[in-house]
Amino acid sequence: MNFNPLFLLLAGFCFIFALRGFSSAQTARRGNLWGMGGMLLALIVTLGMTGGYRLAGVLTALALGGAIGSAIAFRLPMAALPQLVAAFHSLVGLAATLIAIVMYAVPGAFKIGMPGTHLGRSVLLEIGLGAIIGAITFTGSLVAFAKLQGILKGTRGVLRLQPFLNALTGLLILGALAGFIVLSDPLVLLILIALAFYLGAGLILPIGGADMPVVVSLLNSYSGWTAAATGFTMNSAVLIITGALVGSSGAILSSVMCKNMNRSLFSVLFGRRSPPQKGKEGGGKADTSSIKVGNAEEAAAILRHASSVIIVPGYGMAVAQAQRALQEMAALLIQDGIRVRYAIHPVAGRMPGHMNVLLAEANVSYDDVFELDDINADFACTDVAFVIGANDVTNPAAHNDAASPLYGMPILNVEDAGTVLFVKRSLGAGYAGVDNELFYNPKTMMILGDARKVCEGIVQTLK
Ligand code: NDP
Repeated sequence: MNFNPLFLLLAGFCFIFALRGFSSAQTARRGNLWGMGGMLLALIVTLGMTGGYRLAGVLTALALGGAIGSAIAFRLPMAALPQLVAAFHSLVGLAATLIAIVMYAVPGAFKIGMPGTHLGRSVLLEIGLGAIIGAITFTGSLVAFAKLQGILKGTRGVLRLQPFLNALTGLLILGALAGFIVLSDPLVLLILIALAFYLGAGLILPIGGADMPVVVSLLNSYSGWTAAATGFTMNSAVLIITGALVGSSGAILSSVMCKNMNRSLFSVLFGRRSPPQKGKEGGGKADTSSIKVGNAEEAAAILRHASSVIIVPGYGMAVAQAQRALQEMAALLIQDGIRVRYAIHPVAGRMPGHMNVLLAEANVSYDDVFELDDINADFACTDVAFVIGANDVTNPAAHNDAASPLYGMPILNVEDAGTVLFVKRSLGAGYAGVDNELFYNPKTMMILGDARKVCEGIVQTLK
């Protein structure tokens, strides 16, 4: 009796338990174990089903891919993780596109038809869809990678015609897909893929600022649907299940992110394009003489005299790997009877949950970590807001500047606190590229320096 389908179904259940685990920080590690177990089971069963010379090929590919992946992962700094995820998503897309091409070229190998004979229309539809979704994921993820890496900047507002071109390309793709199904012509398949490559890049290029997190989760979802589409073509139930799980969880995450950002998915993808802000771009062109600048010793003195502190971490904490020094600083304050809590903005950092992961790594208690809605009102009765490597998530332009790319995004109301300590290296802008008027607020003291070094300095002074 063949137990393989049963084992693959079991692997699917493991993935469901994994997702269940990811729903809270406390159970995320368990979720990871379920996911790894499911993947191991699926791999073993799939390898067992692959006989003869193919097994050697698959094992060679596994060893090669595993070696390259491990080498990249070991060398990569933690702060570059979001770009790495985007780059890996692009590979899922590329693989799906290549699989679609190979299935069309060598249908006999997949038992979907014989070379030279006309493939069934449903098979051509599956191949076409797999190629389209894969190609869109590929170039979309590459553009997201370039944006997260800072290679591509300032495309928002420049590409005003892009939504129109995207709509046109979408229509051309539908036409080419119909043509491919009717004609089964390799040239039409290549045109289809070229158009989808263009659409993938065109969809992501104009998006930036506060909308970028939605794009990251959306591409995550695309990569899942790509895998599911490939699963249909290859007749692989486990690929369909896994792809559908990743696709739907990514779609749910995108919808949650949109809700948190006060935006609709439609407006993220096709919404307003704000003009570049003259004189408001980051870079410190404005008069900075009114800005109060302090050092670690002064920050320590202010913190020591507080009775409550809310820490607001952002991307700079990840860059500096300051989470452990920060935790040590918080522990000393707590020892002195000061109430310390952490406020996490839903898009802080460069990927969903970025700050939660780093704080968990530094053993910060989950009970001290609060989401925006649960803590925002408390800034008004807090002595010190300690903003460390965060910028956009505190920027009041999101409330009061309709031309800002951040406009409409909820922010952490740090300016309501008695004193705002802002730890960053310069007066430069955050990801959205706009100046932050909070730096000029009389309540604010800028502590300019690397986040980890500043925290270590504060710890030394407190000790
Ligand atoms: P920001 O990018 O707005 O600001 C981070 C700040 O950290 C910078 O202004 C930088 O200033 C400072 N910084 C960098 N390195 C260091 C360091 N070593 N030590 C101290 N400070 C440092 O980050 P936020 O977390 O506030 O906001 C996230 C932004 O990223 C939002 O615009 C969001 O839309 C976007 N985004 C979020 C994603 C997500 O999924 N969470 C995905 C993609 C984009 P300086 O150079 O002066 O030090």
